[in-house]
Amino acid sequence: MRPRSFSGGLLLPSSSRSEPQPFEHVPFPETFFLPMKQHKGAGCRPLFKKDAAVQRGQILGQSSETAIQSPVSGHITEVNKGFRHLDGSITTCLTLAASEEAEQTTPAAQKAPVMDKILGSGVLDFGPAQPLMRKLIRAQERGVRTLIINSLDEFFVFGSRSALLVHHTSRAMEGIRLLQHMLQPETTYLAVYEQSLPLLDKDIPIPDSVRVVPLRAKHPQYKDPMLVSALTGQEYPMESSPLELGIASISLETASTLAAVVNHDEPNTHKPLTVLGPEPKEQNNVLVPLGSPIRHLLQHLGRESEDVAKVIVGGPLTGTALSSLDYPVTKEMDQIHFHRAKDQISYSSEVCVKCGYCVEVCPMRLMPFLLSGYSSTGFVDMAADNDIFSCIECGCCAYVCPVNIPLVQWIQVGKSRLSTNLRSEAV
Ligand code: SF4
Ligand code: SF4
Repeated sequence: MRPRSFSGGLLLPSSSRSEPQPFEHVPFPETFFLPMKQHKGAGCRPLFKKDAAVQRGQILGQSSETAIQSPVSGHITEVNKGFRHLDGSITTCLTLAASEEAEQTTPAAQKAPVMDKILGSGVLDFGPAQPLMRKLIRAQERGVRTLIINSLDEFFVFGSRSALLVHHTSRAMEGIRLLQHMLQPETTYLAVYEQSLPLLDKDIPIPDSVRVVPLRAKHPQYKDPMLVSALTGQEYPMESSPLELGIASISLETASTLAAVVNHDEPNTHKPLTVLGPEPKEQNNVLVPLGSPIRHLLQHLGRESEDVAKVIVGGPLTGTALSSLDYPVTKEMDQIHFHRAKDQISYSSEVCVKCGYCVEVCPMRLMPFLLSGYSSTGFVDMAADNDIFSCIECGCCAYVCPVNIPLVQWIQVGKSRLSTNLRSEAV
């Protein structure tokens, strides 16, 4: 089958591997940091105070849509009410000291309805990270004709989602069947990069009701607007979601986690991550206990923290730089990149040379140089007239810009100023 694609974007770098690396288990650290907010939107309310003893899998924080479970048995040593989340907001963070029991056991699971299990284990979906329960309730209210299971990693052909697909196919299929049962779609697509198609385990049959569709390895194919358009030929306004078209797009990682918590009563305490170092061969797929400091993860991978100048959470073109290696691994992360000082890219203050490369690669058919220019000079209304809110911040434009203009950062500034203006007009 010919792989599907979209116009614009960037071809992904070819992988030196012929298949995704199996997951490596990162051991428990001695101390965990558990922010009560691990997705965009309101976080959870902490349920424990300092010195409280907790068990592995116990709910430490709860909201009406999600929860945070304890990754280990131990006790709370600190309740920090001033923890800064990646998005700049302030949340509460529990510090947890693991008990010394070599074997961390999990209390027997209680029989509970499926939605209660999803809520109690705080399963998230991605792009952007949001509680799965919220997404499922909206999908059930609106009705779903098409279910898309997204196994595409951001910017890498063989990252952690490909590893789940290729090395844990059975668990992924269980999750897909659960989603089909809950949403009753007429059609289910499993979106895979074309390189993964021949690697699917032939001994684990993919149900006939699931159509496996190969896609060209391009950035940002993993984003919903590109995925929906490549699979169904439909487009939707950026301010809405694929659900408006009767389409639910759910990550393969979410499907696998769903199978683990619903069918196997496992707590949601580990995170599949792709970790990338400065050299192309430094790529690891790891399963990390949630709440582990990034420093612990790097030490496990044999990297001294002095050697690391910057850690970026998210894809290489879209991620956010961390301010401290003590920041913990949270559910909303899917990739971590670390750079040495000599790998840093410096942005330039040079002016646009009107080469048009950014326009050529923009998958949303925007004029990035105009959006950035209007935002940086304060003409944000002109940026709005040129559809700045349709920008999905994929980073393709900045990647190809020959004079290194920080296009995405300026677009973000423009969006933020426009949103502030809209809010103050509404008051
Ligand atoms: S303008 Fe936005 S959508 Fe277009 S390439 Fe740049 S970041 Fe991507
Ligand atoms: S790629 Fe850079 S230099 Fe070229 S048109 Fe776009 S902003 Fe200008």
